[in-house]
Amino acid sequence: MALSAALRPAAARAEAIPVLVIHGGAGVIKADMSPERQKIVKAALARALDAGYAVLKAGKPAKDAVVASIRVLEDDPNFNAGKGAVFTHDGHNEMDAAIMDGATLQAGAVAGVRHVRNPITLARAVMEHSKHVLLIGQGAEAFARAQDIDLVDPSYFWTRRRWDQLQKALREDAAHVRHADETTDRHFGTVGAVALDRDGHLAAGTSTGGMTDKLWGRVGDSPLIGAGTYANAGCAMSGTGWGEFYIRTVAAHEICMRVTLLHEPLAHAADDVINHEIPALGGNGGAILVDAQGNIATPFNTSGMYRAWIGRDGISHVAIFADGAPAQ
Ligand code: ASP
Repeated sequence: MALSAALRPAAARAEAIPVLVIHGGAGVIKADMSPERQKIVKAALARALDAGYAVLKAGKPAKDAVVASIRVLEDDPNFNAGKGAVFTHDGHNEMDAAIMDGATLQAGAVAGVRHVRNPITLARAVMEHSKHVLLIGQGAEAFARAQDIDLVDPSYFWTRRRWDQLQKALREDAAHVRHADETTDRHFGTVGAVALDRDGHLAAGTSTGGMTDKLWGRVGDSPLIGAGTYANAGCAMSGTGWGEFYIRTVAAHEICMRVTLLHEPLAHAADDVINHEIPALGGNGGAILVDAQGNIATPFNTSGMYRAWIGRDGISHVAIFADGAPAQ
């Protein structure tokens, strides 16, 4: 495939079998997961998967499915996005989100929003109803008002679990110790989705509260097109993990370029960047990916990653730990 073919909008293809992959964040550790909690989280992932897959089965575009799945996860306090967003260093919830439509290379993103109930919906509005790609803070929220997008009081995002996680991180800051759980879902937990629709088009989306105890105005990889979120005609990715390393490696773009330009198998390119390049720099995390043939990859180097998928076989899978790798 020549450069232009990888980057230009996808031509109509023979009807594809829809594929959907979602994640609820890397960094899950067994010690934090009672059997009851595993059950609750798996049920939430299954609900989000069903919501997105119903959209694909109805013949609608991949970007609609991505939004449908992510909204379910944003409304669920178990995930670090929307309702369950983690707290910043000074005790706010500041959320980031992005969506990219691989069929058109259109993208929309928001960063540092504090009142938007479903940041993924606002990211989509930026993509479809503005001439921009990324809006931040108060400007993004003014745009949300203009678009009639649900705004809520910041108290909506307050949860005991996330508040306690911040207090623990602040105690560690005060004692000048490295956060003991820098690699766990006390810090991670972003949500995302990638989809292949019946027309053979791909889309990716990611939504997050960022990382617990993040400093003022910190923006992670999730809303940065090419870092934590990317889709083109041949590959779509949503990442989760220590965002600074995804930004420095431009992880999603690198993987998708290796797949579309160098024709590397999806699983190989994804494993190389997520499990080798990022850890070599000192980072960690995971990602979900799908290519235009419906191959799936879900690499992660943390002890677990909340994830669920329906591949070409049409069967639902939900997994948390290293078991249950998706069949290609
Ligand atoms: N990647 C996100 C960030 O750095 C965090 C996460 O994946 O949970 O903002």
